[in-house]
Amino acid sequence: MKRYLALFIPALLLTPVAARAQGKLNVMTTTEDLASIAREIGGDHITVEGIAKGYQDPHFVEAKPSFILKLQKADVLVVVGRELEIGWLPPLIQQSRNSKIQPGSAGYIDASLQATILEVPTGQVTRAMGDVHPLGNPHYWMDPENGKRIGKEIADKLSELRQNDKAYFAQRLADFTTRLDAAEKRWLAQLAPYKGTKVVTYHRSFPNFAERFGLDIIGYVEPKPGIPPSPQHTLDLINDMKRQNVKVMLIEPYFDLKTPNAIGRDTGAQVLVMPPSVGGVKEITDYFKLFDYDINLLV
Ligand SMILES: [Zn+2]
Repeated sequence: MKRYLALFIPALLLTPVAARAQGKLNVMTTTEDLASIAREIGGDHITVEGIAKGYQDPHFVEAKPSFILKLQKADVLVVVGRELEIGWLPPLIQQSRNSKIQPGSAGYIDASLQATILEVPTGQVTRAMGDVHPLGNPHYWMDPENGKRIGKEIADKLSELRQNDKAYFAQRLADFTTRLDAAEKRWLAQLAPYKGTKVVTYHRSFPNFAERFGLDIIGYVEPKPGIPPSPQHTLDLINDMKRQNVKVMLIEPYFDLKTPNAIGRDTGAQVLVMPPSVGGVKEITDYFKLFDYDINLLV
């Protein structure tokens, strides 16, 4: 018995200690979309929490002190990038004083690096007239092809931080990609009969979605990204919609419906509140359900 214990106890003690030495990576993401994809890749080897909720405008998030506390404890921060979060994130990162997640550190992951970015300005890059998309369109996660690329970026970076888990992350990425490919085929088939349908959206949240699924966005309620509607722009938009017979308007959940409803009454177009993010409504609990919900809504 004594000899048995002598052999057995060290084994019992050692295993949990070895496992604890590489505890779960504490991953923070700026949005719930990135949190969902990070969860797909990291599985039970990470903990994940998103900062901005899906029903909030990701350009304009209230920088709460509680976020600083969360960032202090993070091993990894995943951002959408392309200046989507420039209005609220930099002071939070700075005030966290966490060297692991400062831009350029190993724990700072810019999810846009492998993604296909639309509407990249060709001329001089400015934030002229308050345009909040100076580095191209940052709503690129609305294309499942980019979802795969975001997953790859996260898997690559997590593997650098946890080399022992490289195979685990690679296997999770392969599984995520396979399921997303299958879902994308289904979504494309659902929307195929509506190819070329002309729509108007409030903000430029859906160009990647429209390109992937064959919608034609002919105008926006906002005159420029981040700029509220003006009477002249609204009048021009109404005329364009009448001329092109636009029957659908897609409005993100965080915008006032007053102007869209007025445009809808004047043109006969139907106003659909369509979330561009996980958590936009309570049914959208992950990245797959985001497309399920939006595509069912459109159909
Ligand atoms: Zn935007």
